[in-house]
Amino acid sequence: LMDRRSDLASHRITLGSVTLGEELLVIAGQCTIDPKNPNFLYETAHAVKEAGANALRGGVWKPRTNPYSFQGDVKSLDILMEAHRRTGLPVDAEVMDETQLHLALDAGVHMLQVGARNALNYSLLRAIGRAVADRKTIVLLKRGLHMGPISEFISAAEYIVSFGNPNVLLCPRGTAPALDGYRNHPDESITPLLKEKTWAPVVVDPSHSVGKASYVPACALAAVAYGADGLCIEAHVQPSKGIGDDPKQALTPEVLGETIRQARQLWTL
Ligand code: PEP
Ligand code: MN
Repeated sequence: LMDRRSDLASHRITLGSVTLGEELLVIAGQCTIDPKNPNFLYETAHAVKEAGANALRGGVWKPRTNPYSFQGDVKSLDILMEAHRRTGLPVDAEVMDETQLHLALDAGVHMLQVGARNALNYSLLRAIGRAVADRKTIVLLKRGLHMGPISEFISAAEYIVSFGNPNVLLCPRGTAPALDGYRNHPDESITPLLKEKTWAPVVVDPSHSVGKASYVPACALAAVAYGADGLCIEAHVQPSKGIGDDPKQALTPEVLGETIRQARQLWTL
């Protein structure tokens, strides 16, 4: 990405109706899809679209700290694709291994997410690069919690891009150790640095950076002030009835809508 800056400087990534760099991309939706309550995702999908989001996120398989916590369910992949059919929104899901990768691609997922925990999993990054080489699929690469130098993040993206598909989005999502009181150490401030060193768009995830719904809007706006090309925000029609991070972190559609409105206004300044 660093070496090929001039090559790829004019490359434009398009997701649904948004071309990165031309308007602020907003990906929003549930942390985790609840396979027992698919209507929550369908309602969330309609609500985030109404709130101004351009793409829907929904966790199918989840990297959980506790092995006894809900780990996700392949059935949620059908629910995510049904939400796409109902709303027209392109969809994003995290994959953690090659089996999940191929299931997601076969189902038609538009954006693959590499989670923070796998950001340095070079075999997975290679497998993804190989699998998307001949497709337009976009990869949202989260910054690892454990990543230090900026070159470590950029090189991880290069693992995917080196196979030929340049559609990678860099996603700061907070690092460890956490800033006391926040879930992680918010890192939206690395956006100008990333944008200077690569041509790849930067899509900040304020939800995992701060980890609490009431702090998310400020972090989202800070990211835009730092020059982010997009935001990835957890949202749910009824956060308290959600699973995974949603009870703590998800914005209601109302707060999401207001945050998107302010973020878009700031982005045009
Ligand atoms: C998520 O997006 O829900 C998630 C698990 O993200 P991260 O990999 O950044 O923790
Ligand atoms: Mn989450």
